Amino acid sequence: MENILVTGGSGLVGRHLSKYLPDAVYLSSKEFDLRSEEDVRRLFTSKWDRVIHLAARVAGILDNKSRPAEFLEDNLLMNTLVLKYARESGVRRFTAVLSTCIYPDVASSYPMTEEMLHDGPPQATNFGYAISKRTLAAHIDASNAQYGTSYNYLIPCNLYGEFDKTDKNKSHFVTALLVKIIEAEQQGAGKIDLLGTGKPLRQFMHAEDLARVLVDCVEKDVTQNFNVAVSENLSILEIAEIALEATGNEGFSIEFDPNGPDGQFRKDVSNAKMLEILPDFEFTGLAEGLRRVYSYYKSIDRS
Ligand code: NAP
Repeated sequence: MENILVTGGSGLVGRHLSKYLPDAVYLSSKEFDLRSEEDVRRLFTSKWDRVIHLAARVAGILDNKSRPAEFLEDNLLMNTLVLKYARESGVRRFTAVLSTCIYPDVASSYPMTEEMLHDGPPQATNFGYAISKRTLAAHIDASNAQYGTSYNYLIPCNLYGEFDKTDKNKSHFVTALLVKIIEAEQQGAGKIDLLGTGKPLRQFMHAEDLARVLVDCVEKDVTQNFNVAVSENLSILEIAEIALEATGNEGFSIEFDPNGPDGQFRKDVSNAKMLEILPDFEFTGLAEGLRRVYSYYKSIDRS
């Protein structure tokens, strides 16, 4: 049996993955700070066959915008050290997880395909995060070219799911939306307030779907790079309407604050390559996924 290390194992994706690959080792920053060369060196004194590198400094638009240097530095350090020490210690397979947020802010055509990753500058609101992840892609490509490794990266669209951060400054859109719906229900407000214009387009996938793709990569020993995204590319308004309907609150009104940040207008990617590699893969439907995650956030203590 392979000895599998999952960095970022305590996060949103890691916790979903642990249901499917229970024998892997799941790390959090408490055991190893992956920005520290000493910690990373210590981590790779153990022998790992495969590394799934999820660890990253990740957050929503507000945090990314106010701390671009920290996002750049932390992610560059973690990615560079983990990949270098993995390779030097003889790790056979290494899969990194990037993000569709790192694609060019404006592309020549949509949906974007994998070879367009470096075709133009990323969006200003997450520039530091995006450049650090693009550098990881370049580092993996360079390792494969120079050392003959077969390392790869997946580029997932926006995620939502149980186990996400619910802190208002750090949470991602869908989690923030579901928490706002729950709070509006509790306060009898009958409306939710959202930042921005509601017009940007997004692909949202349940984090468990990404976990299932990672499991398929392990089981089928996949070494290609590919986007992981649902086919639907919906406006923020449409997603909010689906969430209200899925949670039985279709009567609620939605108020947008157009002074709030919208982020990138669109960043939809093609899943054609993924579906060639994993033709039988089935995504969780958005309404079903939202209903499940809403029930989860309703059932936990978020304070
Ligand atoms: P998350 O919930 O924020 O979890 C981040 C993980 O990284 C946690 O386990 C965290 O450990 C660990 N980590 C952070 N800083 C660390 C450090 N200095 N040393 C060691 N570990 C550290 O992230 P996620 O949403 O699961 O994301 C997983 C991957 O998917 C990331 O690479 C992210 O860029 C990518 N991705 C996420 C989304 C999304 O919408 N969430 C979309 C596309 C791609 P602690 O728990 O100890 O802090």
